[in-house]
Amino acid sequence: MSTLMNTYGARTLTLTKGLGSRVWDDAGHSYLDGISGIAVCGLGHSHAAVTRAINEQADTLLHVSNLYNIPAQIALGDKLCHTAQMDKAFFSNSGAEANEAAIKLARKYGNDKGIENPAIVVMKSAFHGRTMATLTATGNAKIQQGFEPLLPGFVRAPFNDIAAIEVLAAEHKNIVAVLVEPVQGEGGVRIPDADYLPKLRELCDRHQWLMMLDEIQTGNGRTGKYFAYQHTNTLPDVVTTAKGLGNGVPIGACLARGAAAEVFGPGNHGSTFGGNPLACHAAEAVVDTLIGGDLIDRVAARGAQMLQAFKDKLGDNPKVADIRGHGLMLGIELEAPCLELVAKAREIGLLINVTAGNTIRLLPTFIMTDEETDELVNGVVQLVEQFEPTE
Ligand SMILES: *Cc1c(COP(=O)(O)O)cnc(C)c1O
Repeated sequence: MSTLMNTYGARTLTLTKGLGSRVWDDAGHSYLDGISGIAVCGLGHSHAAVTRAINEQADTLLHVSNLYNIPAQIALGDKLCHTAQMDKAFFSNSGAEANEAAIKLARKYGNDKGIENPAIVVMKSAFHGRTMATLTATGNAKIQQGFEPLLPGFVRAPFNDIAAIEVLAAEHKNIVAVLVEPVQGEGGVRIPDADYLPKLRELCDRHQWLMMLDEIQTGNGRTGKYFAYQHTNTLPDVVTTAKGLGNGVPIGACLARGAAAEVFGPGNHGSTFGGNPLACHAAEAVVDTLIGGDLIDRVAARGAQMLQAFKDKLGDNPKVADIRGHGLMLGIELEAPCLELVAKAREIGLLINVTAGNTIRLLPTFIMTDEETDELVNGVVQLVEQFEPTE
């Protein structure tokens, strides 16, 4: 037993090296990385441009306080806002903190309008993080249990159900915003109807609510556009992102446009580390790499290819309940709980994830070769075919 708090359960694998889409353990075994540090290392491991940016910045200036101008933060803010069609950025160190910024922003937006006890609409089976506010926003009773009292100021609707939000609107006059993932990641790779975001936009406009998208997992190219909302012709008022933004260097961002971008003034929010030179310079290299070539288009093509391959090979398998995908966010929902497949995958040299109990979730790197793609697809197909539910 180590002195680490037991928040992650028993950890049996020790990874010591990564290159491209592959990682190695301390015994020298290699694994094809099908989860990329949970949607973090989209560019793969030891990416040259990111490594160079980290080294450059470490050699120059690692950190200064937000009391001072930080050119890398300004440059990253410009690039992200331009890409996102947003006006202003606030940088944090994590996804949960990016959402904290969005939640505070929504509350201040409401309070500034004179709305007492402003409330935010959040969804069932949503995941927004582990801090008290984001845990409250998360729609998973299992991970909330034991942490009561949760925060006031949230009302909940089923995901992908506009009518249910209309009902909430009639019941709660204090709603000021909606916070939703364009694809629910931890919730099981749940993809809403194509008109969900446009209808949500229309609803938010009608009620003067802020439309806030949690793109912490779906952002930074993961779904085959820089942000998932860019598959629609909808613009949110606020968008949060993190995970893939630093390709492994911790950083998050809360972007906003229009009135939402003007809500925070001096003293309203802050962070010691958020937006520091190291994180921002590394993230700049990530954003440049993502938007500088055709990588994100290749995510879309690779994702479509993998989804089709899984449908062809597993579509008729009675153990499979559903196969879903949006870019390189892929979910294979089985009829039975299948957590043991994570260990079985390791035995054949694959890192995969199971979420929501019965859904194999793949979040591969954006740079897999054709051979690596076949290896991942064929490996997962084999795991499903050989799977014998224990319950
Ligand atoms: C991972 C995730 C978060 C939390 O991000 P952290 O960096 O772990 O705090 C929030 N929302 C979504 C959609 C996520 O996938």
